[in-house]
Amino acid sequence: MANAAEIAGNIKRRGLMLVISSPSGAGKSTIARNVLEADKAIGLSVSVTTRKRRPSEIEGVHYHFISIREFERMRDTDALLEWAEVHGNFYGTPREPVETAMAEGRDMLFDIDWQGAQQLQEKMSADVVSIFILPPSIDELQARLHRRAEDTEEVIQTRLANARAEIEHWREYDYVIVNDDLDRAFSSLKSIVSAERLRRDRRPGLFEFVNALMEETRR
Ligand code: ADP
Ligand code: 5GP
Repeated sequence: MANAAEIAGNIKRRGLMLVISSPSGAGKSTIARNVLEADKAIGLSVSVTTRKRRPSEIEGVHYHFISIREFERMRDTDALLEWAEVHGNFYGTPREPVETAMAEGRDMLFDIDWQGAQQLQEKMSADVVSIFILPPSIDELQARLHRRAEDTEEVIQTRLANARAEIEHWREYDYVIVNDDLDRAFSSLKSIVSAERLRRDRRPGLFEFVNALMEETRR
């Protein structure tokens, strides 16, 4: 049996499923991008969507842009872990990359709406850590949607009209971050990730470590 000191540096743990939702424009993609850049151990779940690509988006990086027909094929063959219709388009999480990451104990981040968050909570509650991002005000939400300048006025109005329905689900999340100052919001998310990685029930490797420690108390 290995001694405790050898095991201590490499205590095995399960991967986290970091689920982030917010009304459109509150800043969840920006915060998520910062976290992914700062912590290379977290992978991004790249969703499929039937929505049109925005000018700044890259196929396979931000989304896999697919047809409605392809979406239906994936949905009907159980290739999606969860899916939902949001703002008039379909979105879904491909199952295979998530199952591989979880089996290997890697963390994954999901930028999905409340409907998707509910489905993941039901299916994989032990692995899900959910975070809801709120804007500091509705005026600022509107300003951010305009500043992003990637959607038409009609699309922006649909998203604002849907903000209320999304915000109504805030209590279903483990954590809530008000994204007023971006650095503060980012730092809050990093704290959540650090703490959740340390949870006892996510670290099956602790058993082996504590057994080794107990063995050493007998010496
Ligand atoms: P979401 O993914 O929630 O729809 P985005 O991350 O695309 O929102 O952010 C919407 C816009 O708001 C972007 O232009 C982004 O740069 C800006 N933004 C995000 N967080 C902040 C913040 N704390 N302060 C000011 N602008 C922000
Ligand atoms: P956007 O069009 O701004 O990229 O995303 C619109 C909304 O769809 C956001 O709330 C985003 O989190 C959500 N979304 C993106 N991908 C998925 C997904 O795979 N499943 C679900 N349920 N929602 C998603």
